[in-house]
Amino acid sequence: MNDEQLLRYSRQIMLPDVDIDGQEKLLAARVLIIGLGGLGSPVAMYLAAAGIGHLVLADFDTVDLTNLQRQIAHTSARIGVNKAVSAARSLRELNPDIVLDCIETILDAENLAEQINHADVVVDCTDNFATRFAINAVCVAAKVPLVSGAAIRLEGQVAVFDARTESSPCYRCLYEEDSDDATCAANGVLAPLVGIIGSMQALEAIKLICGFGTGLTGRLLLLDARHMQWREMKLPKDQQCPVCGTP
Ligand SMILES: [Zn+2]
Repeated sequence: MNDEQLLRYSRQIMLPDVDIDGQEKLLAARVLIIGLGGLGSPVAMYLAAAGIGHLVLADFDTVDLTNLQRQIAHTSARIGVNKAVSAARSLRELNPDIVLDCIETILDAENLAEQINHADVVVDCTDNFATRFAINAVCVAAKVPLVSGAAIRLEGQVAVFDARTESSPCYRCLYEEDSDDATCAANGVLAPLVGIIGSMQALEAIKLICGFGTGLTGRLLLLDARHMQWREMKLPKDQQCPVCGTP
């Protein structure tokens, strides 16, 4: 690390859990963020600010006026711009010290597998079950930890699935393939809620990379923001799970 990096990251380097070693790990890490919307915005901004050395930003969608109420990596001037590209512009201003790659197309199976195989951590910030199941299956096969988040209306949830740990459940252990999508476009969502959940995803990603503390693997945290109550559910591995179960 050079002097500017030591200064830039000094407030987290001074934490014994991070220290120089942890910051070196963050700078050496490659994180794939899929979806640069309400969750992906705070995830990308915090991971960029914290000095994750290489961020891969994947989103095929473009910035729309209705996104700006909560998708804080974008700006009014960038309506119509691809979300990965728009987010990268904010991140570049935040931290010129890191490598940013943008993927502006839908990730097909081959590209998804290639990107996940090269990632140290995957952060799922997408908004539909089909994509989440596809990401989960590749993360299990590639044994890459997956930080999963979701937020809608006034409800949020966050969990970590770490296929490097034999006892860890996967996303498919939690949900059936025929689950219905509930979208923010149809149900609405309050802006700070996606900030809370996205910030927690970023925090869990940093912990996974540095290797400190107790992670959310095998646990699901549920937030009822209306009454500001958290609930924790233990997530057991489903031995019959078609993705991660024992054949
Ligand atoms: Zn499973």
